[in-house]
Amino acid sequence: MDEEKNSNKRQFLGIWFECCHVYGRIYKNKDGTAYVGRCPKCLRAVRVRVGTEGTNQRFFRGS
Ligand SMILES: [Zn+2]
Repeated sequence: MDEEKNSNKRQFLGIWFECCHVYGRIYKNKDGTAYVGRCPKCLRAVRVRVGTEGTNQRFFRGS
């Protein structure tokens, strides 16, 4: 993924994917308005808005 090469400094959010019971990371989008990513197992899309309670905690539960 070229996204990983130039995003070393990009902020990420640790997230627990309840759908598959796996831990993963989701990264900030270009605009910096949300963390977006996918479950590593089932590729379910996850999105956490920046500025909500999700950003103050490193750990977020996707449901
Ligand atoms: Zn999943």
